[in-house]
Amino acid sequence: MKTSPFVKRILALFKKTQEKPETPQYPSDLLQQYKVTKRTLGVGSFAVVKECIHRTSGQPFALKIILKKAIAGKEHMLDSELDILKQVRHPNIVSMHGLYESKDAVYIVTDLAGGGELFQQLLNKGNYTEKDAAQLVRQILEGLAYLHEHDIVHRDLKPENLLFHTPADNANLMITDFGLSKILKNHDDILTTACGTPGYVAPEVLKQKGYGKPVDLWSVGVIMFTLLSGYTPFWGEDQATLFECILSGRYEFDDAYWSEISPAAKNLVDRLLTYNPSQRITAEEALQHRWIRNATGKETRPTMNLAPHVRRGLSSQQSIRSVMTTLTAFN
Ligand code: ADP
Ligand code: MG
Repeated sequence: MKTSPFVKRILALFKKTQEKPETPQYPSDLLQQYKVTKRTLGVGSFAVVKECIHRTSGQPFALKIILKKAIAGKEHMLDSELDILKQVRHPNIVSMHGLYESKDAVYIVTDLAGGGELFQQLLNKGNYTEKDAAQLVRQILEGLAYLHEHDIVHRDLKPENLLFHTPADNANLMITDFGLSKILKNHDDILTTACGTPGYVAPEVLKQKGYGKPVDLWSVGVIMFTLLSGYTPFWGEDQATLFECILSGRYEFDDAYWSEISPAAKNLVDRLLTYNPSQRITAEEALQHRWIRNATGKETRPTMNLAPHVRRGLSSQQSIRSVMTTLTAFN
């Protein structure tokens, strides 16, 4: 008996609903070296990050998968950029170990930073002081100084790109996602990314007048401000007002949050959030700043536990972010 076209269609439809969702076609040379596990470590604006295990050593790594759609028109830059990024080795930087390609995607194997994102970890922490904050900022600056020494500008420094190496209490803080912004984003995109975190962007970037090393130091300023107070220095109801606020360059140390914070900390924030990029402190200079140098010494004055009020501020930000993430996923 011949099956009618109608039955064929029904059968095809039925088969389709029974099919498993498509699993990505990993390049075979990648699969020879690494086994990709089911664990998803995170989702960013461009990438999905999965866990993978090196077959011979059994060591876990992160696998960053970037769809080629995201780099459309800039494929030619990928190799040269990644060649530079492959050279980078520093305890405060997530380094790259391998690069693979398929028709639709690029796969980058990097250090696994299993300790989670900076602010998420701080929310979990019961107790942390100004000195703890200084030690975190010092590590960000160490990584940045190294990148800048190699003429790599991050351009997208923000809390989501700062990950702890392990869940341990004294784990290194590591910078991820550097360098790629050059390929992934058009400069104009910074202005139009609806779900990014534009609050960390320097005013000269918004004015489209500068993409040099100082932009990273501005971002450190915003991160440091937030680490100490739980709220961001620049704020707006919507993106337009946020940009106006950043462009004005004005921020305040609200007494309710800052009265217990040392003058040295405020001075470093001011040096980082210096409006003119050529006058802004560099990473090397910031490492010599007294607030950072004292971070390794003994506590000299009684310090307040910042955890409760920082947690209060951050958790409202977190909830905004999760709403944004859900919305973008939805769209
Ligand atoms: P995007 O470039 O799309 O922003 P990211 O590299 O920032 O992508 O990764 C997105 C998320 O995945 C991060 O915010 C983090 O939670 C997680 N992630 C990224 N890299 C690693 C890593 N090396 N180890 C563990 N988790 C990671
Ligand atoms: Mg990111």
